[in-house]
Amino acid sequence: MIEGFYRYKPKPEMVAKINTIRIGQSRPDLRLPPILDNGAMLFSSAASAHNEPRSCYNCPMFNYGKSCRYFGKDVEIHKFTWPKERRDGAKPIEFWPVCGYWIYGSPNYGPEEFIENTLSPDDAGLGWVNAPSPGLELSGTSCGGAEGGDDCDLWLIEGTTGDKRAAKQGFCRVKQDYTDNLDCCSCWEDDDWLTWQVVKERFNESKP
Ligand code: SF4
Ligand code: SF4
Repeated sequence: MIEGFYRYKPKPEMVAKINTIRIGQSRPDLRLPPILDNGAMLFSSAASAHNEPRSCYNCPMFNYGKSCRYFGKDVEIHKFTWPKERRDGAKPIEFWPVCGYWIYGSPNYGPEEFIENTLSPDDAGLGWVNAPSPGLELSGTSCGGAEGGDDCDLWLIEGTTGDKRAAKQGFCRVKQDYTDNLDCCSCWEDDDWLTWQVVKERFNESKP
């Protein structure tokens, strides 16, 4: 695979540069998210998710390790780790799939099944989020990223150095109200989100 970028060396200055880029992409005053109600944002409470981060792996629409009942066979869906091994200053990261149509339940472990008229993964906002470490039992999205999940940039807590994953509650800019760490909704966003089109490319590259 062609990789046309400069590899950051393990120097404090490079870490500072990455932090600067992430602050620029995630800081609240650069964008004005729409203010929505629970229905418009497909809000799901922590209790409805059994206090778990959300991904295809706890959604009943998932044809386990293969696809989603909504999108058809052509959209390959499963978690993946990339790069496979630590190399060139990069460490393996595990990415987990999820979309805005997520509901809580157990995946389909049998033969693949699909709805009659499949839906668009673009409309569903299908993408992949990164887990804090590879090999977790569950990962995925939530407001604050607790329990092995990934946090939402639209969730604010007090202080600049606070660890969101340890906070019980934070302020959601879309809901304009406080939410619990393991609440979530379809407006979730993060600066390291991988779209399904990017992931499709990676899957194609890794095939013989
Ligand atoms: S793509 Fe969405 S609806 Fe389909 S299994 Fe994953 S979370 Fe559920
Ligand atoms: S913080 Fe993010 S994921 Fe949580 S409710 Fe708000 S927009 Fe949705």
